[in-house]
Amino acid sequence: MIFSKLDAAIYPFINLASQIVKELEENLGLNTILSPGSEVLKRSVERIKEAIYSRVTSVYKADLDVEILSHPVAILLLKSMKNLRLLHIYAEAEKNRVLLNLFSEDYEKLLALAIDGFNWHVRRENDIFFIRFDDYLKASINIIDSYWKLVNRRLVNGYVELSRRDFSRLMAEAYKTRILEKASQEEVTQVPERVEGIVEELNKEVQATLPKVDVSITDISGEYDPAAFPPCILRLLEDADRGKNLPHMARFTLATFLISIGKRPEELLDIFRKMPDFDENKTLYHLRHVAGEIGSRTKYIPPSCATLRTFNLCLPDELCHKVKHPLIYYNKKLRILRR
Ligand code: SF4
Repeated sequence: MIFSKLDAAIYPFINLASQIVKELEENLGLNTILSPGSEVLKRSVERIKEAIYSRVTSVYKADLDVEILSHPVAILLLKSMKNLRLLHIYAEAEKNRVLLNLFSEDYEKLLALAIDGFNWHVRRENDIFFIRFDDYLKASINIIDSYWKLVNRRLVNGYVELSRRDFSRLMAEAYKTRILEKASQEEVTQVPERVEGIVEELNKEVQATLPKVDVSITDISGEYDPAAFPPCILRLLEDADRGKNLPHMARFTLATFLISIGKRPEELLDIFRKMPDFDENKTLYHLRHVAGEIGSRTKYIPPSCATLRTFNLCLPDELCHKVKHPLIYYNKKLRILRR
């Protein structure tokens, strides 16, 4: 099967993607790729932020060269940051992106991607896939779920039988493993000077966003009353209702706040529906991730007031002076309203 440039952008593990990266690096040179204001650098940062806030990266189709190059550059940035947790979050988000796309591919394309990308020994009979057991073992080694243990699989003449869905999951998992292996291969001894500032900014954002769960904050009443929402959340709801294209941090704050006070991910879809890039399946996927229902199973809480201030998302009222977190504001205001 002949793959397209779009395939190389969506599936960075195929040979065509590596070839394009090599050609672009030779033609443009690292200096241009990492120059201030470079589109590749911008997209790489965006890709890492998507991983932090949405747990799934998107595919930027407007410029496929930029999209293809942004993946190795994102890995370079992540290596420079020396943050293993973030690297795992990125790898997981990339895996999720690939998985979502694999679900809509036809059978022949799935086989071709597996052979080209991972050299797997695979074949297909109707809607069932077969993968040689040693390839299966290697690809499933990091999956803890007993569902994937070889003893729980049907083996036919040295080949493991898989449904189309499981075959896609295995391929996405192999891609995640490849990212982690690649990132651990060479040490980045020195970050190019011009990206030092970007790495620093990203580090700050990560510190501010990855959750530190405070029991006093998460101990909320579970009562849903918009009259007690803090002004920052009310503003975000208004903006969403007007169809404004909210940045990652704003979406993350709104979703985590509403989920923390008891809303289910499905109930939040209508809030995000008017946004210009709304996609029901992807939005639900992101929401379920931050709710801890899928993926790493970490339930996220909104960022603190201090963090929201640095992102210009805070517009305090009188009660705000007594709180350090939007959920604490909500609790206090609920008590005031119930007096
Ligand atoms: S102080 Fe906190 S709760 Fe109040 S508006 Fe700012 S971020 Fe929201």
